[in-house]
Amino acid sequence: MHNRSAVFYRDLNAVPPSIVRGEGSYLEDASGRRYLDASASAGVVGIGHGRSEIWDALAAAGNKVTFVYNATFTHPWQEELAGRILAMAPSNMAGVYFTSGGSEANESAWKLARQYFVERGKPQKYKAVARWLSYHGVTLATLSLSGRTSWREIYSPLLLPVARVAPPYEYRCRICGGGRCTLACADDLERTILMEGPETVAAFFAETIVGTTAAGLTPNPGYYRRIREICDRYDVLFVADEVLCGYGRTGHPFAISAWDVAPDIVTLGKAIGSGYAPLGAMVVSEKIRGAFAAGSGRFVHGLTYSGTPSACFIGNRVHEIMSREGLFTRGAEIGRYLEAGLRALADRHPAIGDIRGRGLLWGVEFVEDRETRRPFDPKAGFTAKIVSHMRANGILVAAGIPGINYGQGGDHIQISPPFTITENEIDILLEGLGEALEQHGSVPA
Ligand code: PLP
Repeated sequence: MHNRSAVFYRDLNAVPPSIVRGEGSYLEDASGRRYLDASASAGVVGIGHGRSEIWDALAAAGNKVTFVYNATFTHPWQEELAGRILAMAPSNMAGVYFTSGGSEANESAWKLARQYFVERGKPQKYKAVARWLSYHGVTLATLSLSGRTSWREIYSPLLLPVARVAPPYEYRCRICGGGRCTLACADDLERTILMEGPETVAAFFAETIVGTTAAGLTPNPGYYRRIREICDRYDVLFVADEVLCGYGRTGHPFAISAWDVAPDIVTLGKAIGSGYAPLGAMVVSEKIRGAFAAGSGRFVHGLTYSGTPSACFIGNRVHEIMSREGLFTRGAEIGRYLEAGLRALADRHPAIGDIRGRGLLWGVEFVEDRETRRPFDPKAGFTAKIVSHMRANGILVAAGIPGINYGQGGDHIQISPPFTITENEIDILLEGLGEALEQHGSVPA
């Protein structure tokens, strides 16, 4: 018998606990239980929970501007936030289009890429190429881009065709062989563009560092340079999805900066509003801006809530807090502490097969046999056991999506705490993970 709550919950059989308070890295539910939020609630809450200064600032701004429809007007808060984002972006970036979240940003990016080629007199270019083990959103177009098999299945008759290439997954690489990365996964893009017909391909979408679908996949140092070369060779736009990994999560304002490569579009979400406002963005390069300026001058697209004043106002306050407290780059330093702790845990726990990520975005993959990398039987539900054990002990981490072992199961968690997490809180998290592993059969060395 499912619940009769007025809310249509994702899981009708389990109304989740109601959260009544949040502070820093902690959440508290209506029964008084406290949780260390080492997931930053889906990787969103960069500046931490319960920053009352945001609400104070909003109240102080009064009702100066309530709503502005962006097809007719702009307002100072949108202009200010766009300027701040461009000032941190790769130097080829030249414009920001605001959305209410990540799916809208990626959907906008595909449409922008398609219209870009229409503007340039190449209307036959419209296709997108994306990777397996990827997530770009839930709308039909962004689910089409996503190589997240379990979420695609039900909707497959409705999805758009998207060609798919190998992910940069060194731990289970199927195409390099010999244990040495030859960037064959990047070259898979060239093969795919050629198979599709370069004259038809508009864009390649990739999460700069992969999120929940395979948590923490961080490509080889040469990977994005090779991707850039291939995209340039075939006149294909490179879209870096940084909805999760951008805006400070990896210790850089833009994760792609670590590869020193300039994408054509970067999409943002999550931390940009930090949960205080629904906000996302599409950051657009001069190349695209120039093509529109020389062409029709008008992006045929429009979201009612693009650049809505309250969201942009809050986005500016989030940006100020992040700048003042060094949170755009703090992930690099505190992330080293987290990484060292995870590696020490892996040394003791044979169930940890792989640790990967950067800054404050880490994936921990579990295996039944470390020697052969054999995953657990999916029926054993190992990840679910670890995540619910930790949750029962008041620690929240995200369960990875099954299927990383090329559709045959596989277990992993994602750790993506607020950028404000302390060393002491990281110690609590690591201790909790170690204890959960021990309770579920991983015998410490
Ligand atoms: N892209 C990535 C990499 C994400 O992690 C997500 C959300 O988890 C999205 C896009 C979709 O964003 P949203 O849920 O805000 O629509």
